[in-house]
Amino acid sequence: MLLLNPGPVTLSARVREALRRPDLCHREPEFATLQNDIRAALLGIYGLDPATWAAVLLTGSGTAALEAMITSTVPARGRVLVIENGVYGERLSRIAAIHGIAHDRATFPWGGRIDPAQVVAGLDAGTGITHLAVVHHETTTGRLNDVASLGRLCRERGIELLVDAVSSFAGEPIDLEAWGVTACAATANKCLHGVPGAAFAIVRRVALARDEVPHRTLYLDLRAYCRAQDEGSTPFTQSVQSFYALDEALRELADEGGWQVRHATYRRLAGIVRDGAVTLGIRALLPPAESSVVLSAYDLPAGIHYPTLHDRLKAAGFVIYAGQGSLAQSIFRISTMGAIEDADMHRLVAVLEGIVRPR
Ligand SMILES: *Cc1c(COP(=O)(O)O)cnc(C)c1O
Repeated sequence: MLLLNPGPVTLSARVREALRRPDLCHREPEFATLQNDIRAALLGIYGLDPATWAAVLLTGSGTAALEAMITSTVPARGRVLVIENGVYGERLSRIAAIHGIAHDRATFPWGGRIDPAQVVAGLDAGTGITHLAVVHHETTTGRLNDVASLGRLCRERGIELLVDAVSSFAGEPIDLEAWGVTACAATANKCLHGVPGAAFAIVRRVALARDEVPHRTLYLDLRAYCRAQDEGSTPFTQSVQSFYALDEALRELADEGGWQVRHATYRRLAGIVRDGAVTLGIRALLPPAESSVVLSAYDLPAGIHYPTLHDRLKAAGFVIYAGQGSLAQSIFRISTMGAIEDADMHRLVAVLEGIVRPR
């Protein structure tokens, strides 16, 4: 079975094998080495300087890292402008709301472009915005948001930028320095090709040293994790096996040639699916220039409901992903993360043809 949903992903044999490494106590020096290696490799993917940046490791899914990032960086008197153009932008607002963090929302249609003029209006509304939060790759629709431009708007105003990079980290170009990002959050089991259970935030160290940020949660406090991890320790038990898998996945990524090669692979795989779909009269929701290479959304073929499409593809060995919310009845999504090859995608297109054009 190949997973074409946006995480968890189909594992490589190499990463799966790493789950069988020896039992390990998180208070032993071998765990400190494992943790140090992962932290260094995560910063290394995009060439970040460890003197300026910290990779902070958590046990949990991507949402845990997002909640940790927001609660650990916004001061008591801070106010966040959250950009929403899909499910995950809306989730950032919910995190702020649940923790009583003051926020405004700049909302756009799902799948729509972020209008910079509307963002500027939100930033300059006089409500005292200190932080902007945005999703880099909105997995809801496959739209890749222009974080570089938003970063420019933030820098001009001294506003800090927080980024959900959960489904783009290691698969898309990300330049935290040039974009002026304060922190981003991501997970092991999407473009990094690890298993679910390990997540992380990449944070400017200065942002973790601010007294005016209250301690809003015990378990998701990035400052406690960072302090302990800098000393080779951990505040709580970590998912050791998930860390093993992430460590191996990071080595595999480096051996393959880094994020650039992964990006090129995703682009090629997504192109095979897109070309095949178009030939079958299946329309992509977004033009390639506006979509990530990680996931593409397609209109459901005429006369075929999602459950039928899903079940027929699953019977052929492919798990696809439904649309969410208002898109549930109209689209399906295909991600090309994980241990997937060109031949798999050619076979997918052939199966799709059998469903759309039964003979
Ligand atoms: C997958 C994803 C998340 C996190 O989802 P989890 O189920 O908590 O891992 C957050 N944001 C985006 C953009 C995602 O694609």
